Amino acid sequence: MEYSVLCQTYARIDSTSKRLEKTRFIAELLKQSGESLRLICYLLQGRIHPAWNKEVLGISHKLIIKVLAQVSGSSTQHIERTWEQTGDLGIVAEQHIRSRTQETLFSQTLTVQHVHTQLSRIAQTQGVKSTDIKLKIISELLSNVSGQEAKYLIRTILEQLRIGTADATMRDAIIYAFLAQEAGVDANYTITEREAYTRVTTQVQNAYDRINDFGVLAETARKGLEEIKQIRITLGKPIKIMLGYKGTTPTNALKTLDKPVLFQYKYDGFRVEIHKQDDEITIFTRRLENVTEQFPDVVAYAREAITARNVILDAEAIGLDKHTGAYKPFQHISQRIRRKHSIEEVAKELPVEVRVFDILYKDDEEVLEHSLEHRQHILEQTIHNHKQFLLAHTIITGDEKEAEEFYTQALREGVEGVFAKKITSTYQPGTRVGTWIKLKDTHEPIDVTIVGAEWGEGKRSGWLTSFTLAIQDEEGNLCTIGKVGTGLKEKEEEGFSFPEITRLLEPLIREKKGKEVVIEPGVQVEVTYEELQKSSAYDSGYALRFPRILRNRTEEKNVEDITNIHYIEQIYREQE
Ligand code: ATP
Repeated sequence: MEYSVLCQTYARIDSTSKRLEKTRFIAELLKQSGESLRLICYLLQGRIHPAWNKEVLGISHKLIIKVLAQVSGSSTQHIERTWEQTGDLGIVAEQHIRSRTQETLFSQTLTVQHVHTQLSRIAQTQGVKSTDIKLKIISELLSNVSGQEAKYLIRTILEQLRIGTADATMRDAIIYAFLAQEAGVDANYTITEREAYTRVTTQVQNAYDRINDFGVLAETARKGLEEIKQIRITLGKPIKIMLGYKGTTPTNALKTLDKPVLFQYKYDGFRVEIHKQDDEITIFTRRLENVTEQFPDVVAYAREAITARNVILDAEAIGLDKHTGAYKPFQHISQRIRRKHSIEEVAKELPVEVRVFDILYKDDEEVLEHSLEHRQHILEQTIHNHKQFLLAHTIITGDEKEAEEFYTQALREGVEGVFAKKITSTYQPGTRVGTWIKLKDTHEPIDVTIVGAEWGEGKRSGWLTSFTLAIQDEEGNLCTIGKVGTGLKEKEEEGFSFPEITRLLEPLIREKKGKEVVIEPGVQVEVTYEELQKSSAYDSGYALRFPRILRNRTEEKNVEDITNIHYIEQIYREQE
């Protein structure tokens, strides 16, 4: 398929905010994608790979400005000025390429395949000459595109496509394109059989949650629904984890979940998904990133403790005090996640303990559809007793007193709280479920992304301060909910600090207006607050009263994982 056809669809999707319309435009394109179907699915989401593959293009705004100057003959200052006005280098590229292409004829028609190959080359190019090579690839691509194509090409290269092709939209488009009949969807994309539609959507979603790959999902859907039902977990590829809702007390949880209930310590660490395939151990974060290299100690413990030939475990890695062996809060080990050098030494300085709480796969069989009670039983037979690789502390009880005591004991031992889990429940990857209820002692914090900040003054000069916070609306668009300037430390050694957050945010500055800067979303933080108020000062319609930053959650949460407006509404209702 020609790249221009894909770009025309980008423009159509971009032109509407209605999810149903976006879905139809994508479905139309998928139907005519032919051999390029898989690549088109990735490119539609502004990626070159499926979601589980975290390889990035890593191209800076600066490099794009340089290429645009070269290709269009304009000065870098001129390009920077138009960038400041529009806030989008894609639009800048469109304007500059459009004026240029009036004189030049394209030498080559770009295909989707070719663009994808060149983008993959950019991602893989490393080493001393890499910037020159990347620059050459981008300028070659740009010399063969129209204005519209330049806009979407540059946005893709900067990994900022943002046309609203969220996962649910992609899933529905795949159903509309290839499984319309089975799902009771007619030729006008109207759902005529609601029950069939719900059933097929669940089947397709279940398949997606096992592979995290819209390319493979679409190719399989094109073969038929039966093939979709056959999709299984692949060892070595990460699966989205399951999450719970907040509850109130163990006694209430017993009422909600049908007695007896499984109660389990909720450790304040770092979620790890551990895959074992013969002797090979792979560790993923909840963002599906491969962190095996950063945790050689966990790899060693897993090899010693796991008795099964192959397995996928859901677990928490908790930081330990190297002298006393006591649990340390999450921040303690968070720095291990990005570590690239002196990994062995850091592992000794910041040791961890692994607590396994679920199992998804064992010895060539998926076990996620067994009941939790059965899975716990399988777990017990899968893990040897090991000092630093253990099962999560668990009881099954229907007794209120016993449940309350277990909770108190958890808090006394310094863990965050407990999880109450329904013993008949299956493991549902990628979903927040009502069958897991978390019970914590604290006021529930929210996760937000930073979209603006101000340069500090006086003793805080040189640091970004006063951060504008955003959550997601129903459509997944960002909307502001307040400003925060407290909670951060002044010195790096004391924890999450102003210097650290400044370092993270500075490369994401999009626009400057005096002291104020607009930030490209990419840094997620957890904030607590005294109260939620209705307010017209922020787009969400709510404001946080006395907010305070608790911790950096960027390693664990993408922009799509931050708190949404439904949750805020729920908190507001509970508070009222
Ligand atoms: P939180 O801020 O509490 O981590 P969250 O939105 O990240 O909230 P929740 O569903 O509220 O996710 O809490 C689940 C997290 O608790 C998991 O991601 C996991 O890292 C951790 N955890 C610790 N112990 C357990 C356990 N026994 N079972 C499930 N998750 C556990």
